Amino acid sequence: MAPSIYKVKQDMCDIGKRIWQRGYCAGNEGNHSVRVDKNRVLCTPTGISKGFLRPEMICMVDMENKVLEANKGYKPSSEVKIHLQIYKTRDDIGAVVHSHPPHATAFAVAGIPLPEGIHPEAEVFLGRVPTAQYATPSKQDLADSLIPHIKAETSAILMANHGSVTFDKDLTGAYYRLEILDAYSRILLLAKQLGKVNMLDSKQMYDLLEVKQQFGFNDPRLSCAADGCIGSTQNQPFLTMFDARPASAVCDANGTVQSHGGASTSTVSDESFEQMVQTITDQIMASR
Ligand SMILES: [Zn+2]
Repeated sequence: MAPSIYKVKQDMCDIGKRIWQRGYCAGNEGNHSVRVDKNRVLCTPTGISKGFLRPEMICMVDMENKVLEANKGYKPSSEVKIHLQIYKTRDDIGAVVHSHPPHATAFAVAGIPLPEGIHPEAEVFLGRVPTAQYATPSKQDLADSLIPHIKAETSAILMANHGSVTFDKDLTGAYYRLEILDAYSRILLLAKQLGKVNMLDSKQMYDLLEVKQQFGFNDPRLSCAADGCIGSTQNQPFLTMFDARPASAVCDANGTVQSHGGASTSTVSDESFEQMVQTITDQIMASR
């Protein structure tokens, strides 16, 4: 039996509290919605913190963004257009969460695509996360910017210089994807501080995507994972952030230099290091 409208509104308030408590939305930012039937969508009101929602504040619109229900003093979020675009494109989607999770949004602000082939949880529950080009918040352009990225396998999209949108068949699922998205982004930023990231290899990725398929999540990358397609299009901007560190000499007891290490052991850092050496060599040659 489908839950009552009031119960869905209560659930939206509970999820709003989690979003606010975890710092995914500051002030009045963000919005989330639930599709209750073919033509009706419940959505959060504009100008209200997600941490202070009450059921009577939740509004209802139709698929053309006509207001069907809004108590006095409340009106639907202007960004509900994003949600409607996703519902129109994907019949299987029942809930959408738009937030500004700090760690994931950092990638969207820096213009660095979220890398793939690193963390099993992110691979299974998010897969490849595309970044939509920047568009002005509240305008239809913002919803339009998502269109090329709403594919059958997509459950999260970063919005350049803005935030994220996650979606699933129900509100809990859409919220979990938001949590996983920001947790994964945080892990990446912490790994960057440690100076190294180990990629899953082609075999590990193939095995993982096979398990993902067994869970019922279709991922088109399964067909090319064994050939090494994972990360081939969007990992480089993140991996090049791993600067080559200054070489540090390792001496034996007699003070004899044994080796020059220090650069990160990741392949990319080695490449960056070689690139730096080449640049310095070029500059020296040019100054002669
Ligand atoms: Zn926003």
